[in-house]
Amino acid sequence: MSRYVDRMRRAADACAGADIDAFVAAPSPDLRYLLGYDPPPLERLTLLVVRRDADPVLIVPELERPLAAASPGGASIELRGWVDGVDPYREVSRLLPPNGRVAAVDRLWASHLLGLQGALPGVAFASASTVLPGLRAVKDPDELDALRRAGAAADATFGDVVGLRFAGRREDEIAADLGRLLVEHGHARADFTIVGSGPNGASAHHEPGGRVIEPGDAVVLDFGGELDGYYSDTTRTVVVGGSPPGFDEVFRAVFEAQAAGVAAIRPGVPIQEVDRAARAVTRDAGFADRFIHRTGHGIGLEIHEPPYVIEGNETPLEAGMTFSVEPGIYLEGRFGVRIEDIVAVTSDGVERLNRSPRELRTVE
Ligand code: ZN
Ligand code: ZN
Repeated sequence: MSRYVDRMRRAADACAGADIDAFVAAPSPDLRYLLGYDPPPLERLTLLVVRRDADPVLIVPELERPLAAASPGGASIELRGWVDGVDPYREVSRLLPPNGRVAAVDRLWASHLLGLQGALPGVAFASASTVLPGLRAVKDPDELDALRRAGAAADATFGDVVGLRFAGRREDEIAADLGRLLVEHGHARADFTIVGSGPNGASAHHEPGGRVIEPGDAVVLDFGGELDGYYSDTTRTVVVGGSPPGFDEVFRAVFEAQAAGVAAIRPGVPIQEVDRAARAVTRDAGFADRFIHRTGHGIGLEIHEPPYVIEGNETPLEAGMTFSVEPGIYLEGRFGVRIEDIVAVTSDGVERLNRSPRELRTVE
């Protein structure tokens, strides 16, 4: 229970640091993080109100109060039930300063935010991911362990999939193999299985379909899922039988960009330096305009969460932060290459949570 008290305390402190009066969280990964309570988001309002100068309160539908009370952090906060027919937004308004600043989690239904704005016309609402982006960024030791297990299970999935036949099979068959293997290796479920073969690999988030994979194709494999509440996300690019023309040079650039990005990681370094280090390699190789996305994203209770590894993010790296390093080069009509590992910042450098070989792998 104390971990949730600590986390709500930290959220309150972060509000004070950001000149925010309160932080409100509807059912979402943030509520799960702060309270261990994970109900589905619904039309009836459930809202955790964390205030900088008062104790936290959970506004909850009366019929769900027993569920909330039984949650890991439920006994550590005041629960205020509301019954159908009462305006729950009025209940929330009694907890907040009428002219204050309130940070709201990104996953808050528009109906709820509009209800809150109606009950609190003087309050300025802000996006919590903008004003409190660091809330979940530094992981606890057991969170790091869960991410390590998820990474190892994704690595085992890759180790198995490269032993399967690619040539003559459809992308969506390989995607189904990836999904099955993720679960076999311990994931609760697979959340995404991108298989981009040949020209389809140039579409970074390609939805695997009926294209039959041929010898000489490059294939981008980007897959992950949830294990013990935390996510895996890794990408390897393989070739079938041998490389298509011009591929090896592109692969080398992405391989070295990924290594350069990871090598830039240590505590205190502004996050944008990781993006710059990776991007310098692809630029020097002549592909500046074909690396068309940020270098990475935080990962934890969500697949994509702060911190984002992007130019302009000057947040210093801290031990315990976890994120992806995933440069890519995409040549329309030909192929794509992406290599992605999840990493954790350590007290003096970096730990890769994905260990499967990054060197070019030829499959059959
Ligand atoms: Zn990915
Ligand atoms: Zn990713």
